[in-house]
Amino acid sequence: MTSRGTTPPLRLHLAVGGALAVVCVLLPVGPGRDALYTLVSAGSVAVMAAGVRLHRPRQARAWWLLVAGMATWATGDSLWALFRWVLHVTPFPSAADVLYLACYPLLAAGYGGFVRARGGHRDRDGLVDAAILTVAFALLSWVLLLRPSIEAAGTSVLARVLAGAYPAGDVLVLALLVRLLTTGGARTSSFRYLVAGAALMLLADCGYQYVTLATDYSGGLLTLPWLCGYVALGAAALHPSMRRLTDAEERPAFGVTRARLAALTVAGLLSPGTLLLQLALGARLEAWAVALASVVLFLLVMVRMSGLVGHLQERANRMADLARTDALTGLANRRTGDAELARLQVRARREGLPLCVAVLDLDRFKEFNDTYGHQAGDSLLVQASAAWHAALLEEGACTPPSRAGLLARWGGEEFVLLLLGHELDAAGHLVDRLRRRTPAGQSFSAGVARWADAEEAGELFARADAALYAAKRAGRDRVLLAGAAGTTPTPPEAGRRTGGNATAPAPRAGTRAPSRPGTGVSRG
Ligand code: GH3
Ligand code: MG
Ligand code: MG
Repeated sequence: MTSRGTTPPLRLHLAVGGALAVVCVLLPVGPGRDALYTLVSAGSVAVMAAGVRLHRPRQARAWWLLVAGMATWATGDSLWALFRWVLHVTPFPSAADVLYLACYPLLAAGYGGFVRARGGHRDRDGLVDAAILTVAFALLSWVLLLRPSIEAAGTSVLARVLAGAYPAGDVLVLALLVRLLTTGGARTSSFRYLVAGAALMLLADCGYQYVTLATDYSGGLLTLPWLCGYVALGAAALHPSMRRLTDAEERPAFGVTRARLAALTVAGLLSPGTLLLQLALGARLEAWAVALASVVLFLLVMVRMSGLVGHLQERANRMADLARTDALTGLANRRTGDAELARLQVRARREGLPLCVAVLDLDRFKEFNDTYGHQAGDSLLVQASAAWHAALLEEGACTPPSRAGLLARWGGEEFVLLLLGHELDAAGHLVDRLRRRTPAGQSFSAGVARWADAEEAGELFARADAALYAAKRAGRDRVLLAGAAGTTPTPPEAGRRTGGNATAPAPRAGTRAPSRPGTGVSRG
């Protein structure tokens, strides 16, 4: 536990409570020991109440339920001491049992309040994990405590019910404790004291039940976890971080830590382990209980797994979308364009359809950026993409299910349009209609090439690119159609660069010359 935020009253409580708990264990069994025990337990409950009053947490109701539960238990203890040392009787069942048993639902309700406050009711995975751990613990409790306790209680139905209620109460509190542990909130000091308190109480209670089944227990080492549990719960309420029980905390993906995986593994192995141990020791087989627990555990693990697979699928879909899409414009990106070209080539060959590629490059976009700023440039890229895409949808060129075309951002201010089922002229006219739809008075130049069967994608792009450069050289704001495959020499490696610049190749033979700058599709 961290010492951060430890206040003098908290330090005093821990020191005095801890010291008295140790003294109590060392004292011989007798009224003096029980008197000291009562002092520490009642004192801790008083400290809890003082902490809640002092800090006024938002989850006051849950804290008061916890105080009430511990006060009930402490009163039961005092009553039991009275029976034992003053009245010299050990009745079962007695009023002390009523008090003890009232503690479990109160604690469960208190811890349940904390689970809710930490958003546990919205976290299905945490709920399933807690259920898995609880079922495993319930099986263990059934084998070691519940069934033996009921059998040892004799024939009276009331005695049997009461005897079974203790281990059942522990299962209930443990369920809420592991549920609290699987919530996603911050692990503050108060939270840790809260968990430690319940864990110590459960340990002591289960230990007590187990020992009393076998021997005539009259008080011993188990007193220590009992009292430490009281002291820890007092510390939980006294620590200033008790007000930050709902603070969020960074958790690993899907909320599966190594510790949780380890706990779930142990829980999963518990039922076959129980059976193996019983077989090995020649003990009574709890076949029904083990089989039932195994079925429930298996179903819970399946529910958890389906949740995990769902999470993973969702993420995979999101990642795939991201990998396919251009972040700025939302168009397909170059990777998608490449894959789509390969797909369309197969279709074109199979269905005997023409396939064209157009390379579009905004004119003097650097100037636009320099004049209006980079953000305005970004915004133009977005608007232009949207306008072209809308035009393509109107033309039915890129609509599913035919999926006969694709507009992709290749990078920078350069775009590629793939068109299946359009001859070169038709494709050129379509691209020209897009040119006219370019917003903000901007224009683009484009080169269009028709794929020749058996032509490499690189060659196809090189021809479209050459036509684009020719369009730039011819004055921009126009669409040029590339000559047939093989009519132009393949450009060098750097053939697919963006923008028109000094090193761009001049219009070459086989590229059709423009008819009118800024209008229509130029042809040779
Ligand atoms: P040309 O008509 O010859 O194509 O001239 P240009 O200015 O469009 O060509 P150039 O290749 O010289 O410049 C391209 C510019 O595009 C340079 C860069 O600032 C701009 N650009 C590239 N990507 C982006 C982007 O994502 N956002 C913005 N705002 N500008 C970009
Ligand atoms: Mg440009
Ligand atoms: Mg460019």
